Amino acid sequence: MATETFDKQKTIDLRKKHVGPSCKVFFSHDPIKIVRARGQYMYNEKDERYLDCINNVAHVGHCHPDVVEAGAKQMQLLNTNSRFLHDNLVLYARRLQATLPEKLSVCYFVNSGSEANDLALRLAWQYTGHKDIITLENAYHGHVSSLIDISPYKFHQMAGAEQSQHVHVALSPDIYRGKYREDHPDPATAYADNVKGIIEDAHGQGRTIAAFIAESLQSCGGQVIPPVGYFQKVAQHVRKAGGVFIADEVQVGFGRVGSHFWGFQLQGEDFVPDIVTMGKPIGNGHPMSCVITSREIAEGFMSSGMEYFNTFGGNPVSCAIGLAVLDVIEKEDLQGNALRAGGYLTRLLENLKERHPLVGDVRGRGLFVGVELVRDQKKRTPATSEAQDVIYRLKEQRILLSADGPHRNVLKFKPPMCFSEEDAELAVEKIDRILSDLERAPD
Ligand code: PLP
Repeated sequence: MATETFDKQKTIDLRKKHVGPSCKVFFSHDPIKIVRARGQYMYNEKDERYLDCINNVAHVGHCHPDVVEAGAKQMQLLNTNSRFLHDNLVLYARRLQATLPEKLSVCYFVNSGSEANDLALRLAWQYTGHKDIITLENAYHGHVSSLIDISPYKFHQMAGAEQSQHVHVALSPDIYRGKYREDHPDPATAYADNVKGIIEDAHGQGRTIAAFIAESLQSCGGQVIPPVGYFQKVAQHVRKAGGVFIADEVQVGFGRVGSHFWGFQLQGEDFVPDIVTMGKPIGNGHPMSCVITSREIAEGFMSSGMEYFNTFGGNPVSCAIGLAVLDVIEKEDLQGNALRAGGYLTRLLENLKERHPLVGDVRGRGLFVGVELVRDQKKRTPATSEAQDVIYRLKEQRILLSADGPHRNVLKFKPPMCFSEEDAELAVEKIDRILSDLERAPD
């Protein structure tokens, strides 16, 4: 518990004084101060309740009692540097592995999504002996030095930044705004051929491909759902070039897409990545993450002779929490809820599209849903300021949503997985009214 509490303005002042600037979007417009949270709700200092539609870290619901209890019990029994032998680690590794195809059988535990992706790159480099990485336009994979270059979403915000030579950026497989759209006869092949072309060009320059990395569904890029078959085709090209396929599940894994436990499984049963990274939801707010790969790649990594060690990764408390999160997902059928409540939310939003010229596209799988706002449905001109208005007005009405994508015009839903159909109705009703107001307002 905090030993002192401050009024909201004092907290803002202290944050500005003592903490590096971050999350511009939230702090530029009357930030809310949260003092407690439960389920899909967060409460401010006046105990006013906010519906949280964006917090994919509170995956099974904020402060879920089973998760809190598992962590607290383990904390009283043992927590330690992960160099010691303890059962929680193997129990958790075995449990995680059971959610994945058999080939993915070796876990490395780390502490954040960035650390997981950084390790995935090292596994790929060491196993393949190759250097170059192919990433997607508008991708975000993390904040550490090895990842900024392969995260065009952030990288392009840096004035004068020059991309490293070993990084190649492929087209985002976005069938609404990308180069090949929903009217293209085979966007999966067209986008995969773009990757093939990149590999051929790189080879022409004497370069070698270590990995292709992609979010299974792009989040910062604007809730982009790759066309089915795209990953299989890309994997074929990349493996032929001696590289590996890394699926970044940091945002979308753990049942969020509803029909499957992992986002990459939306591509079909015949697709299995070589390396999978996961983070945010797996600890329900407790900082933990994991990389899972094949025995062959893990052995290739070990062949460098370098012992891999991570002090906090897979410590007894993290593993106890991770096991409890998996138990709750199962016990409360949260994946099933994501399918039902997410499907209902998507249908309600699709209704809005029929009535509101500002709604250009609605796309979603389970509780991962995007609404792209446009000023002109034919030209698809991004409605950026309108999207920001929607976010701010919703916040005034105690609903938390964000807007993202390269034009910041995609409203993003990724709520805790206990989000209900009533929550969906409440949020969509308010968005409906706000859109009507915006459409009535003079230019
Ligand atoms: N990968 C994806 C897809 C993400 O969205 C993020 C964070 O937003 C990361 C990786 C990095 O995770 P972390 O912030 O835990 O380092």
